[in-house]
Amino acid sequence: MKKALISGITGQDGAYLARHLLDNGYEVYGTYRRTSTPNFWRLDYLGIFDKINLISADITDFSSILDAIKTSQADEIYHLAAQSFVRASYESPIATANIDGISVLNFLEAIRLHDESTKFYFAGTSEMYGQSVQYQKMKLNEESPFNPVSPYATAKLYGYWTTRIYRESYKLFSVSGILFNHESPLRGLEFVTRKISNEIARIHLGLSKELRLGNMDSKRDWGYAPEYVEGMHLMLNSKTPKDYVLATGESHSVREFVEEGFKLIGKDPEKYVKSDKTFRRHIDFDLVLGDSSKAQKELGWKPKTSFRELVKIMVNEDIRRWEKWQKGERFSFDAPYYKEMEMKKRGREVLE
Ligand code: NAP
Repeated sequence: MKKALISGITGQDGAYLARHLLDNGYEVYGTYRRTSTPNFWRLDYLGIFDKINLISADITDFSSILDAIKTSQADEIYHLAAQSFVRASYESPIATANIDGISVLNFLEAIRLHDESTKFYFAGTSEMYGQSVQYQKMKLNEESPFNPVSPYATAKLYGYWTTRIYRESYKLFSVSGILFNHESPLRGLEFVTRKISNEIARIHLGLSKELRLGNMDSKRDWGYAPEYVEGMHLMLNSKTPKDYVLATGESHSVREFVEEGFKLIGKDPEKYVKSDKTFRRHIDFDLVLGDSSKAQKELGWKPKTSFRELVKIMVNEDIRRWEKWQKGERFSFDAPYYKEMEMKKRGREVLE
């Protein structure tokens, strides 16, 4: 039986990937960070909490990672844990550099010293492309130049290059997925898609009267997260270690997401959506569009869920959750609920 170790198993991608690997017969281990209140709601929601082996670890600490690798004896490691909010990377740039960048070195060094045959996946991001005028008319692929515009993106770029250097210098099977935005009902509430679906659900049920948003004209290439984790698995199981872009190749604006969502509840967004400058990024860019033809050709990966279906899945699921909440059922839902309280206090939102 193959063994996999997932860092960030409590996050959106980590939870979906764990389910995917379990479905494929893997023994799954996951690292999580020790907190006073454990954040296992996604694993519980997917019904896999009892099926995985959890290891408490600090990804910024080499010994902790080496221990996790020794404990799991994993054949495949998926390093997904990250401080994944662009805006928060301005609040804590040094921590972000450690968590998102240096942690990659901890994993690669531990693999090199423990067992060089262990395969390694790093969660790269389209944020590494950042902003460039030339991108306005381009679909971005594995050859496109990087131009990061946030501490988050520079930290990720460090991880990407280090993963590549270890592949080329030490011949490790270490690859990066350059993933464009991917969303789902398990997306954190800070992210704009989930913020929209959650608030539309609440408006539908009479629990809210407004949706406050920053730049409605920002466009992104939004896919469905469960399909993207399949791409990660394919990358580690292909013959040759290579980096791949995963994207839908379509872009849609925040405004379109809002309009599609409000259509589902039969209400006019004009009456509910308020513009709020505090939700804007330090440096924003209008359009991010990916070209995943290499992954489609070489891995057989393909995005299947349309933009409209994605909005529907997310809004309907948030309606279902809030309906349950109204009936007094709150278990799997407590984490997003408290997160919402925190967001109200801090007032922040990002696009990835
Ligand atoms: P997510 O839902 O925010 O999950 C992030 C995970 O990292 C969680 O398990 C979180 O743990 C963990 N984490 C955060 N800070 C940590 C720290 N200091 N030490 C250890 N663990 C920490 O993110 P996601 O959407 O699943 O994304 C997975 C990966 O893909 C991330 O690296 C992200 O940057 C990257 N990515 C995501 C997208 C996207 O559109 N979703 C696109 C490109 C790349 P807690 O549960 O304890 O908070």
